[in-house]
Amino acid sequence: MATAGKVIKCRAAVAWEPNAPLMMEEIEVAPPQEGEIRIKVVATGVCHTDLYHLFEGKDKRGFPTVLGHEGAGVVESVGPGVTDFKPGDKVIPLFLSQCGECKFCKCPKTNLCDCSWSSKYYDIMSDPTTRFTCHGRPILQFMGTSTFSEYTVINQIAVAKIHDDAPLDRVCLLGCGISTGYGAAVNTAGVTPGSVCAVFGLGAVGLAAVMGCKNAGASRIFAVDINEQKFEKAKVFGATDFLNPKAYNKPISEVLAELTNGGVDFSLECVGNTEVMRTALESCVKGWGVSVLVGWTDVKDFSAKPIQLISGKTWKGSLFGGFKSKDSVPNLVCDYMTGKIKLDEFITHKMSLEQVNDAINLMKTGDCSRSILVPLLFQLFCL
Ligand code: NAD
Ligand code: ZN
Repeated sequence: MATAGKVIKCRAAVAWEPNAPLMMEEIEVAPPQEGEIRIKVVATGVCHTDLYHLFEGKDKRGFPTVLGHEGAGVVESVGPGVTDFKPGDKVIPLFLSQCGECKFCKCPKTNLCDCSWSSKYYDIMSDPTTRFTCHGRPILQFMGTSTFSEYTVINQIAVAKIHDDAPLDRVCLLGCGISTGYGAAVNTAGVTPGSVCAVFGLGAVGLAAVMGCKNAGASRIFAVDINEQKFEKAKVFGATDFLNPKAYNKPISEVLAELTNGGVDFSLECVGNTEVMRTALESCVKGWGVSVLVGWTDVKDFSAKPIQLISGKTWKGSLFGGFKSKDSVPNLVCDYMTGKIKLDEFITHKMSLEQVNDAINLMKTGDCSRSILVPLLFQLFCL
């Protein structure tokens, strides 16, 4: 590899500050250090968590940064001590690492790796270590990944090697949204055959939750969104009933209780709104209802009446769908390749990395499920 061991200059979308459009810049990407891998990013999805950091979390200490955490690519070079990866391997960066050594990795009850940026740096949403510079300034790597760049450097504990034949412009979605929603249903909620479910929010994460409920054998799946354009897609993934909370003059939890003789067995909040989190809990049946927080927010407290839990409901949360990332993502890629899970149906737009601000606007206005960005270089020569 002509570039191995050298600094690579490439294009990346830099978020210089909160609430502002991303700027396409030339950045320098340093060679991988001990245990690290430099990756050519071939495709990346845009997830609401990118928008959360830019427009909702807005912690200034988390900038400047390169967003993007739902990518797939090819190994360009590896640093000293890396033996499990070689140049040319197809990989998916993992925003949640799996070191395999910490007490959380060793415990089957959780997928939270203690070496992940998320265990110490929730507020800035990145590990302060970075291999990026631009105009002489260090640029943070959002969620340890930064896929809105032609190249990135990631620790090997946060990279999954995947099948050689995997189509990178689709399996990139397994780097976040689809694994998250699907796993929240099948792992965290533990949806059971014949159960009644409700999914709040029908972006790609919610649609993947619907797919998880369906694959787990749910008999009825309520798809809830304030944007009725989302209902058609939800049907494709297995939703059976469709509710727009704005169309009723009473709380949607009451509507669900009437339609289901007391409430749903499982509800999943895939919006990132603390009011919706409360509603999703209130929509569950007493005695055994389980409600899962999937939407990401850390700016407001949430609340509920204690009787909700006293009456036997369970309220829990899910990061990356509860999947142990390095072990599970290669298997999810195979599940896609054998038809067990869908990915193509989530993709509504494909564009170049240069159009990243258009993709962000599409998500803001609710006019997409997932947009896939392809760095121009590879769009022209590789795909
Ligand atoms: P998205 O913006 O594509 O979808 C959000 C959906 O929620 C939209 O369809 C919107 O119309 C709907 N919505 C908004 N307000 C609503 C309301 N009051 N009631 C019902 N529906 C409402 O987002 P996405 O990429 O699918 O992500 C969804 C959430 O999941 C975000 O909060 C994101 O940050 C989070 N997320 C969490 C994890 C995790 O590991 N827990 C991982 C990825 C994403
Ligand atoms: Zn995400």
